[in-house]
Amino acid sequence: MKSLNVISNHFTVSAPIVQENLLEKYRSMSNLDVKFLNKLYYGNHELEMKQLEKVLIENPLFKTETQEELSRQDEREVGIKKMRVIFDEGRRIVEPSTLYNDPQRFLIFGLPTLIYNQAIATKFSVSFILYFKTIDNLGTEIHQKYKDRLIEQQSDVGCFALTELGHGSNVRSIMTTAHYDPKKEEFIINTPTDLAMKFWIGGASQTATIAVVFAQLYIDGKSEGPHVFLVPLRDKRTFEVLPGLIIGDCGKKNGQDGIDNGFIIFNNYRIPRENLLNRFSNVTKEGKFETTIPNIDKRFAVQLGSLSQGRLMIIGSSPRLLGYATKIALRFAAMRRQFGKPDEKEEVPLIEYPLHQYRLFPLVASVIACKITGTKVYEMWQDCLPELFDPESTKVPEIHAITSSLKAIHSWIAMRGIQECREACGGLGYSYYSKLGILRNNFDINQTWEGDNNVLLQQTAKYLIDIMQALVKGKKVQTQTCHWIKKTPVEGQQNETTTEEEFLRGENLYAVFQHRTNLLLQKSGMKLAMAMAQDKTANPIDLWNNTQVFHLNALSKSFGELFIVQQFHTFIKKLENDELKTNKDTKEALSKLFQLFCLSKIEADLGTFRDGDYLTSEHGDFVRNSILRLCGELKRHIIPLVETFYPIDELMDSMIAPGSGDLYGSIVNKVYGAPKVFQRIQNWEDIYLKK
Ligand SMILES: Cc1cc2nc3c(=O)[nH]c(=O)nc-3n(C[C@H](O)[C@H](O)[C@H](O)COP(=O)(O)OP(=O)(O)OC[C@H]3O[C@@H](n4cnc5c(N)ncnc54)[C@H](O)[C@@H]3O)c2cc1C
Repeated sequence: MKSLNVISNHFTVSAPIVQENLLEKYRSMSNLDVKFLNKLYYGNHELEMKQLEKVLIENPLFKTETQEELSRQDEREVGIKKMRVIFDEGRRIVEPSTLYNDPQRFLIFGLPTLIYNQAIATKFSVSFILYFKTIDNLGTEIHQKYKDRLIEQQSDVGCFALTELGHGSNVRSIMTTAHYDPKKEEFIINTPTDLAMKFWIGGASQTATIAVVFAQLYIDGKSEGPHVFLVPLRDKRTFEVLPGLIIGDCGKKNGQDGIDNGFIIFNNYRIPRENLLNRFSNVTKEGKFETTIPNIDKRFAVQLGSLSQGRLMIIGSSPRLLGYATKIALRFAAMRRQFGKPDEKEEVPLIEYPLHQYRLFPLVASVIACKITGTKVYEMWQDCLPELFDPESTKVPEIHAITSSLKAIHSWIAMRGIQECREACGGLGYSYYSKLGILRNNFDINQTWEGDNNVLLQQTAKYLIDIMQALVKGKKVQTQTCHWIKKTPVEGQQNETTTEEEFLRGENLYAVFQHRTNLLLQKSGMKLAMAMAQDKTANPIDLWNNTQVFHLNALSKSFGELFIVQQFHTFIKKLENDELKTNKDTKEALSKLFQLFCLSKIEADLGTFRDGDYLTSEHGDFVRNSILRLCGELKRHIIPLVETFYPIDELMDSMIAPGSGDLYGSIVNKVYGAPKVFQRIQNWEDIYLKK
């Protein structure tokens, strides 16, 4: 009561201060073409996405996330309820089956859910991409009923059980076994050691009724490599774990509390023969193994197909989540004043500081760059779909290489960017109610799951080295992403631009990234070849590992960045030649963001670009000067631009980024209204009275 009096006095005593609405001021500085930008962000799927968004705004179950201080268990229980509502409402808007084969549509339709709560979005990904797509990709007609149970009857909750305690990246070596018993026509699943227990399985510990389980198939004691089985986990009438299984929870994590990640131990657990997903391999009643892909490694690669779709989701969702974070941080930067000049009444808004611009504006450039790139990759994926399970396809290894690199780059850009946004909002950014910490902690795992970033980059490097070797041998190579590869040495070449203007031309910036990637490819190839020539007895795996740092790892990152630059450059060319039509402000903003994206990436790795004096120290000055100039010029566009980023105000849910522009009103309201805000500590007597 006393506290409430203090507040009411506070409100009545102090005279209201009329302050300039800074957010409005910055919003009105540029006239961006919102329709054009929305088309760029959402393609043709904006309307259906908006319908789902309405559900999240209007249904009271989805009242803002940050008002709730839920326990881990509550979060899981509420999460599953919310997931059901989203699924039921969602299917009234879009037929679910149209989403699963169209990652772009899946991403855009799922955007309100992703922004609202990443853990609920993860539940959808696990159930409908990892579990469903594995059955869809690897099953046959006999498995249709499992897909129906998930989608039509909603009587199953599926999970994806690949990782084990002992093997996460090297999943080819998983240890769970599936022995065929011809007498009973069943597989017997076992966890031979602690290391073989399935671990981290999303949904397993409390909610999933069934799993797709990866296990080494044995027939008559002979290993046929990893295969995938449908394995019931719970009695659906009681939700008790079925006999022969031990299932438990993996414990508290750094984020994604709404997901019940669990471990599964199999003890002579029997499943019918039909539960083998048998599109590419089959076991007859008598126990004869048949396969259309004789090579075990190629067969395994095909079985991991649903993970590729998971990676596509990360490629698409990373810039959306970073976009959300930049919208929070830049709104805050527009409204928050710190320091000033002695002769001026008002302090200076953070957004005016060149240092603040340098920290945040390149992130906005990355959001646009990665969105454009994501759309291109989704097109490539769609193009590749008819060949997805053809072991001889040249498109499949290529899409795998590019998605592996981009999954890593996009998730790193987003993770580091969200953290920068958090720091750019100071102490208020550290508040739970800013949403930035929630965003960061939940996002973090994207760097690890669906393939650890650094491990994935090795797969990209392998593809690039293979392509280069084929080219050197004079073979014809079919590729959409590697036309930049040069067979003649590039070391020693110099960038010939002599003015800042020449340097900033799109063609030149693109050439700069091509040069770095060629240089790293040639150096990596050379290092591998020399090491092999010097020691013919050396193990190729050792040589490969010894060539990672500064070479293959850097090469794969460079390749991914080159691809992003290429896509952004192509887009800007279409703007310049009016193939894409928009207004002057939008053209100017996007063109400058393209330059800023390229320059900030060059600046971050100037050492490599300077290798062999390809770029001179004068070019280094061009880069730094241009970054500063571009940031200044972009200032008038940046707030209007982040205002077009998702989400709309009703889903913003950040106390430090109110759309009204009333920063301090928003903070005071939120903090005063938070649970237990004026409550003394419960055990205060223990502190002061008990000795
Ligand atoms: C919250 C959460 C949810 C998950 N959900 C699921 C799920 O639903 N289903 C499922 O099957 N799995 C799931 N996973 C597992 C996830 O896919 C794995 O954690 C991931 O693949 C990485 O494997 P790992 O954890 O064993 O890491 P490790 O393979 O042990 O890697 C550890 C580190 O070593 C590095 N490293 C590994 N190999 C090399 C090498 N050759 N050279 C250089 N460096 C190397 C990696 O870069 C990494 O930094 C989940 C994990 C988490 C944390």
